[in-house]
Amino acid sequence: MKKILLCSDLDRTILPNGPQPESPKALEILMHLSAREEITLAYVSGRSEALLKQAISDYSLPIPDYAIGDVGTTIYEPLENWQPWHDWAEEISRDWNCKSREDLAELFGDLDELTPQEDDKQNTFKLSYYAPSSCDPLPLKKTIAARLEEAEVKASIIWSIDEQKDVGLIDILPSRATKVHAIRFLMDKQVFAHDHTVFAGDSGNDMEALTSGLYAVLVKNARDDVRREAMRIMEESGMADRLYLARGDFLGMNGNYCAGVLEGLAHFLPQTRKWMTSG
Ligand SMILES: [Mg+2]
Repeated sequence: MKKILLCSDLDRTILPNGPQPESPKALEILMHLSAREEITLAYVSGRSEALLKQAISDYSLPIPDYAIGDVGTTIYEPLENWQPWHDWAEEISRDWNCKSREDLAELFGDLDELTPQEDDKQNTFKLSYYAPSSCDPLPLKKTIAARLEEAEVKASIIWSIDEQKDVGLIDILPSRATKVHAIRFLMDKQVFAHDHTVFAGDSGNDMEALTSGLYAVLVKNARDDVRREAMRIMEESGMADRLYLARGDFLGMNGNYCAGVLEGLAHFLPQTRKWMTSG
């Protein structure tokens, strides 16, 4: 038996929390599938431990074998009391030159635009700030980058906007702490083959993993610009056959959210189809 690793984003990929309709049967099939010993399930999300747990309980999701959370900075083992993986922490800590989040925060204490986010939005390898949504992120990122470089810290600085709260968000993360690196680390450590690993996502923050050369699935509810951009990258790199765009009409489902994840899994690994229908 060759084991299969199914990695999926949560919000608007497995979770039907977007405007498009869901196929309610899909989550039931995922639950059934994840109980099989051939399948290892990993959620890959920006969510913190508390918000991962909340999603699992709100939507009655299967408890995954692994959860890559906090924007890729933590690999949890939910079945082992949500133990974070020490090896992954060690791997990414090298990027921060053995400095803690508190050490790094000291570099930015004088920047008036930055307000530290609440404690529950920070973790060992995630330093997060609010900034006015009106501020120009480029010079601010430049200043932050220069100070990190001086401290010999390799970090990615991610700017986004919380549109509901109309505030800018800045995350400073070890540069290796990405969704795709975390997935590859998991594959290496737990010996999952490249051709037995599938990733599913829906949006721009999944783009790196979607176009990394892993078997990847874009659910049907993804925005057109995301679909076009992902396909363009894959065509340019000659890997178009490694990206599957869910279209629906699979087992009577519509291809949105979890239905699209299952459709893509069955596309790349057709042996899984019979497990989806034998419930
Ligand atoms: Mg998403």
